[in-house]
Amino acid sequence: VLSTMQDVPLLISRILTHGSSIHGTSQVTTWTGEPEPHRRSFAEIGTRAAQLAHALREDLGVTADERVATLMWNNAEHVEAYFAIPSMGAVLHTLNLRLPAEQLAWIVGHAADRVVIANGSLLPLLAPLLPHLKTVEHVVVAGPGDRSTLEGTHARVHEYEDLLAGKPTAYDWPELDERQAAAMCYTSGTTGDPKGVVYSHRSIYLHSMQVNMAQSMGLTDQDTSLVVVPQFHVNAWGLPHATFMTGVNMLMPDRFLQPEPLAAMIERERPTHAAAVPTIWQGLLAELTARPRDVSSLTQVTIGGSACPPSLMEAFDALGMRVCHAWGMTETSPLGTIARPPAHVVGTPEEFAYRLTQGRFPASVEARLTGPGGERLPWDGESAGELEVRGPWIAGAYYNGPEAEPLRPADKFSEDGWLKTGDVGTISPDGFLTLTDRAKDVIKSGGEWISSVDLENALMSHPDVTEAAVVAVPDDKWGERPLATVVLKEGSTADFESLRTFLAAEGKIAKWQLPERWSIIAAVPKTSVGKFDKKVLRKQYAEGELD
Ligand code: ADP
Repeated sequence: VLSTMQDVPLLISRILTHGSSIHGTSQVTTWTGEPEPHRRSFAEIGTRAAQLAHALREDLGVTADERVATLMWNNAEHVEAYFAIPSMGAVLHTLNLRLPAEQLAWIVGHAADRVVIANGSLLPLLAPLLPHLKTVEHVVVAGPGDRSTLEGTHARVHEYEDLLAGKPTAYDWPELDERQAAAMCYTSGTTGDPKGVVYSHRSIYLHSMQVNMAQSMGLTDQDTSLVVVPQFHVNAWGLPHATFMTGVNMLMPDRFLQPEPLAAMIERERPTHAAAVPTIWQGLLAELTARPRDVSSLTQVTIGGSACPPSLMEAFDALGMRVCHAWGMTETSPLGTIARPPAHVVGTPEEFAYRLTQGRFPASVEARLTGPGGERLPWDGESAGELEVRGPWIAGAYYNGPEAEPLRPADKFSEDGWLKTGDVGTISPDGFLTLTDRAKDVIKSGGEWISSVDLENALMSHPDVTEAAVVAVPDDKWGERPLATVVLKEGSTADFESLRTFLAAEGKIAKWQLPERWSIIAAVPKTSVGKFDKKVLRKQYAEGELD
């Protein structure tokens, strides 16, 4: 029997229309480095998104289904592109500006991007790359920056504001199929070529509703969210779409992602919420410790992308910024779990342990654990296996060109279509996920597994340690052993022996897991999205650069 309900497709254009009318007075504030930040209302974003769509279609000939790339920071113009491109039926392709040039060129070619919208401040990056971007015919430049670097290239260069000027401020958004491609994002390609994940209107719409639930971020139009997580990294964790549903104001840092300007914008613009990976927060914490500021407005901080060290959560709690830990990946839109503790532990000593887990699965995300032999493992909080997930905003394949069959590599998708996350962990009977490692980072020592994350967290709880990354290195006797790389606070005299004694004390780390190889380094190398880059550390060790 068919239902009797209306069949209204879940489209990005509906989120835009809602946000720019019902929440028309909400604001996107972009940090400019000038005394006064730039402010634009959701209503203005709505009219300008319509103008951008007209320009893309009428001036640049963008057709439905075409990929349109952005090479942009988090700012109002990027939000306009976020809504204009999918709403007109094309596909928003956000480029990760921190990727190596060859990877960016590969990705643009693979997606066959013909139009790139770029921030003026990123032209020093784009200009030398452009000759290698054979598919690109048009570059649209938004915001300040020296345009002369683009002279003499094969692409036509346009001014963003000139293209919008005089265009109609409304657009008759097409009724699309909700399963159609809306946006795409390539994973950072830690192994092999980058892989493209293509989100649908439906997946983004449903994901946005989840982000807005009280059990997730649960923000309202009384909130301002400081969106530090880049718009080129899994749609800024869904915040631009989610905020347009509920009228949450956005504070956008543009290119000012260093600890000092972040602290300044929090003090001045008084956001209530912020979202970023742990390395950003480590930097901000050091800044606030050195130069205290009034950051009292900021009461909710969403941390994900890599495990939140307990020491970081404690330090933020002490500043009145309550950390909420979440897990996800490019393939999961990204919200996969979020650590809101269950009602019965709130206010008890058990609560902290729950908050440190990766969190609980929302209703639309199904999960299972698979053991090394392919067996299903119980949710007993002890059996560790690879996490597999399924749901309406979870990828089921990778992009392989507009006409070709999507790719479903066997190491990423199970035969029955679940996503194999490559993350290893346990699930408690009440559905809380605890990740012990990435499958490729776990240290296999004499037939036993050592969690690199446990060692890192224990090291980072030492008062003299600012960062610690642990990687597996080959060992004749044990197969692999942990190598601990440690960044010490300035002026610290801690040595290996004292750190080892610290780890062994109070049974923090079992004796056989204690690293015997150490290296003190100036900084942990980071990936394009600010995570510890263990690949680089392993290579440095292999080449004898770490002793
Ligand atoms: P990349 O694979 O290039 O890092 P993603 O941003 O998609 O790109 O990363 C997803 C991965 O990040 C997850 O598979 C997981 O290993 C890690 N991750 C994300 N959130 C957390 C978290 N809260 N705790 C531990 N690891 C996390």
